[in-house]
Amino acid sequence: MATAEAEHSGIVIVGGGICGLATALALHRKGISSLVLERSDALRATGTTISIQTNGWRALDQLRVGSKLRQTSLPLKGIRDVSINNTTLKEVTIGLGEARCLRRSFLLEALAGDLPSGTIRFGSRVLTIEMDPQTSYPIIRLHDGGVIKAKVVIGCDGVNSEVANFLDLRPPRMSPTCNVRGFTVYPDGHGYPHDFVTINHNRVFLGRIPLDDKSVYWFIARPWTHQDSTISKNSDLIKRSTVESMLGFPAEILEMIENSEPDSLSLTRTRYRAPWDVLLGSFRKGTVTVAGDAMHVMGPFLGQGGSAALEDAIVLARCLAPRMASLDHGESSREKIGGALDSYISERRTRLVRLSANTYTIGSLLESTSLVAKLICILVIILFFRDRLGHTRYDCGRL
Ligand SMILES: Cc1cc2nc3c(=O)[nH]c(=O)nc-3n(C[C@H](O)[C@H](O)[C@H](O)COP(=O)(O)OP(=O)(O)OC[C@H]3O[C@@H](n4cnc5c(N)ncnc54)[C@H](O)[C@@H]3O)c2cc1C
Repeated sequence: MATAEAEHSGIVIVGGGICGLATALALHRKGISSLVLERSDALRATGTTISIQTNGWRALDQLRVGSKLRQTSLPLKGIRDVSINNTTLKEVTIGLGEARCLRRSFLLEALAGDLPSGTIRFGSRVLTIEMDPQTSYPIIRLHDGGVIKAKVVIGCDGVNSEVANFLDLRPPRMSPTCNVRGFTVYPDGHGYPHDFVTINHNRVFLGRIPLDDKSVYWFIARPWTHQDSTISKNSDLIKRSTVESMLGFPAEILEMIENSEPDSLSLTRTRYRAPWDVLLGSFRKGTVTVAGDAMHVMGPFLGQGGSAALEDAIVLARCLAPRMASLDHGESSREKIGGALDSYISERRTRLVRLSANTYTIGSLLESTSLVAKLICILVIILFFRDRLGHTRYDCGRL
């Protein structure tokens, strides 16, 4: 039961990561205020670096932070697929639109920096959401005993989302792979061209992206082993186990991993919402919804998690803002908000089912050991995803 001291708020966004901050900023640009509850004590830049693709830059431009962020990043010229056959490297280069790699802290600071002060409340962990039996609006309970009665709750709280639990979404699935990510600095310069290199060999998939002339961001998807759950906090063990899994990779790649910055390393089991979960998921209950990884966490194979979260923010604010202008506590207000959230979900669902199906198929092709499964994946790719970079050309539209 809610206590008498409950605070009242309009739109509450749970989670101050990329999606939560972008959603708050998108609403702010539309003249609507919101409150962001972030459990960390400061902006949280896990992963140190992030690649943003053409579709993500379109969303950043709508948020009016694109120009500022472009000054901190170099454009990538193309994707170079490098395949290893004995010692032969076969290279295929594809143009990439506007793709750039950014320091995550710059992205979060740019989004947060344009928000009115007081919008983000750090150190606020949401424990549960429940529906007020009297008003049918949501009630948020915080770890410090605080209670907030909100008109709208948007769950941008990532892969372990409390808001997704409230919506009864099934937990994200575990993939048989894990992701290792890191950042390597070359004090004398790395000398690599500014392109996105991928190497796929022996069920290990590597992506390498230069951040500037002296540093590169890389990620690896490799089979997950039980040992991985015990080494994820130890950077030396992460490096060792990853290098051991990369038999046959060029020496320069293994050195890149050995020389990576210990603080930048992360190892996580790959988790995802399957395309059919995205297709059938019920993403709204009353005036509560989800966005970003809480809605559609996906494998790393397209590098679209962050850009898709930015698109969510634009579409959500575009649908919600016009309905928030004149609301009371009545039932018709709830219905109006519900209708706006339904428009958001329906617009996003088509895009997200396609993105998650694309990622899922590429992941299955790389992970599977069965020839039949691989052939099915290849057929699906030829039929539906032949345009390799089609997913980056999506335009989420104007704010
Ligand atoms: C190491 C790594 C590298 C990646 N690289 C790329 C890349 O290059 N390109 C790309 O597009 N994507 C990349 N991704 C995926 C991308 O980071 C995510 O898709 C994106 O961050 C999703 O943003 P989000 O805001 O939805 O979730 P998150 O970034 O996870 O943010 C969730 C926020 O909610 C907060 N939170 C969680 N629970 C609560 C709670 N109960 N109460 C209050 N706050 C809470 C968390 O502290 C966090 O700040 C990468 C992911 C990882 C882990």
